Amino acid sequence: MAKGKDIRGNVTLVCSECKQKNYREEKSKRNTPERLSLNKYCKFCRKRTEHKEEK
Ligand SMILES: [Zn+2]
Repeated sequence: MAKGKDIRGNVTLVCSECKQKNYREEKSKRNTPERLSLNKYCKFCRKRTEHKEEK
């Protein structure tokens, strides 16, 4: 049984350069209300780029 209201969900991280949806991350909206932005490797750009949360 789930108890409480834990509003956690998956967000999609989009490469800021080529707009590919490269990663999915689980995030708690309660702990992290702001948009995620992570430096991750993009296989389409073949380098590390900024990946932002898609809305
Ligand atoms: Zn890219």
